[in-house]
Amino acid sequence: MTASKVRVRFAPSPTGPLHIGGVRTALYNYLFARKNGGEMILRIEDTDSQRFVPGAEAYIIEALEWLGIKFDEGVGYGGQYGPYRQSERKDIYRRYVDMLLDNGKAYIAFDTPAELEAKRNEMPNFQYDASTRMQMRNSLTLPPEEVKAAIEAGTQYVVRFKIEPGEDVVVNDIIRGEVVINSSILDDKVLYKSADNLPTYHLANIVDDHLMEVTHVIRGEEWLPSAPLHVLLYRAFGWEETMPQFAHLPLLLKPDGKGKLSKRDGDRLGFPVFPLEWHDPKTGEISSGYREAGYLPEAVVNFLALLGWNPGDDREILSMEELISLFDLHRCSKSGAKFDYEKGKWFNHQYIQQRSDREIAEMYLPLLREKHHDCEIERLARIVGLVKSRISFVNELWEQTAFFFEAPTEYEEKSVRKRWDEGMGARMNELIEILRSLPTMESHAAEEVVLGWITQKGYHMGNVMNAFRLAVVGYCKGPHMFDITEILGREETIQRIQKAIERLG
Ligand code: GLU
Repeated sequence: MTASKVRVRFAPSPTGPLHIGGVRTALYNYLFARKNGGEMILRIEDTDSQRFVPGAEAYIIEALEWLGIKFDEGVGYGGQYGPYRQSERKDIYRRYVDMLLDNGKAYIAFDTPAELEAKRNEMPNFQYDASTRMQMRNSLTLPPEEVKAAIEAGTQYVVRFKIEPGEDVVVNDIIRGEVVINSSILDDKVLYKSADNLPTYHLANIVDDHLMEVTHVIRGEEWLPSAPLHVLLYRAFGWEETMPQFAHLPLLLKPDGKGKLSKRDGDRLGFPVFPLEWHDPKTGEISSGYREAGYLPEAVVNFLALLGWNPGDDREILSMEELISLFDLHRCSKSGAKFDYEKGKWFNHQYIQQRSDREIAEMYLPLLREKHHDCEIERLARIVGLVKSRISFVNELWEQTAFFFEAPTEYEEKSVRKRWDEGMGARMNELIEILRSLPTMESHAAEEVVLGWITQKGYHMGNVMNAFRLAVVGYCKGPHMFDITEILGREETIQRIQKAIERLG
């Protein structure tokens, strides 16, 4: 038998913004598809009209595009297996539901919500299954004419999967190995509802995976409990031969304490749990996103890739290409991965360093304009180059570089006390003369002359250099002094020193 081409799908339900865990699922599908020369499908699972949220689908597409997770087929991409939005596949599902009804693998049930509720009150552990189905109102207990008449009269019904009890169902999971569940604990799941002529998640998911020739189902651990039911559905359709392989990914856990990562953890600890900012159409609430918080997409990808997978050694900085070539589902962990958002910041710092000064300057320019300053891009790139190693986010640049655009109006008090001693004014006047006499403000040349002057005069190196910095910057930290003055230029530097002399004496 020739191995069929790898085909995976990312199948979100448009019930809100894509959670960061969903982004990781999409990423692992992408890495796996690319690694194996396969194809990746975007399928929108929107059969639950109650939970549909406008804008969610567009959000998902935009978020994955931003991260460089590309699809070969699907909603917004087209392809041979469409339509890829489940709400547009109603007729297809109906055919498959009828198939199960015809071969006795499913049945029609008329029990109303009130009847089911009454049954639950009567039997505390009630479950609609082999042990109870014969006590209910369905096509197994009612005469065929009555069933037919009820349907014709427009009575609402559901189609339930007829699960045979007492059988061990084996799910072969690439990450978890063999998971065995006895069918007796499963209930006769609803597969279809006449009320909206739509299948439930389980049926639509299985039919589509089959029709779209999906070979591997890679998804979050929360779907593992559904997997035995899915195996039974493949069998009921006679599709065991082409059943996809499963891989259920480990949960993302809270950074602190126990349990699943939630939006509340993000709010509490101050980090986004969504890739992009999300504006809730109903409540108007705005949730922060990685993009808007200043993360670079490649940093988010690298960070997420290592939450639940490792390359087998201690390498951490891995590009998308490297991740693709190293990715292996067998290296995914079974146990949950702690969401260490501090590590996310560290990744961003690393990737900021990899971008060119010019690129970072271009990202910074809009922020600078918000502060009512403008700057020629070449010059801004030089400024960025001086402080890039100190930042993890572009929005930290203002704090680091404001002094280039605004001369100090105050001087850090404790440094003034420590450095600006008697006679410093006179020494600063001398420094002005030295600066005027320099053939160029180029950093090395200027440094040599100025340090030479301090040494020759026997002045205190630390005090003079820090007073110089106080005058020009306003405080005593930052990049190399002569790199700063090279960019500021002679006139600006001298003016700032003069002003400091006036103010500090
Ligand atoms: N629609 C499901 C979700 O929202 C898909 C689960 C699966 O991948 O089978 O995650």
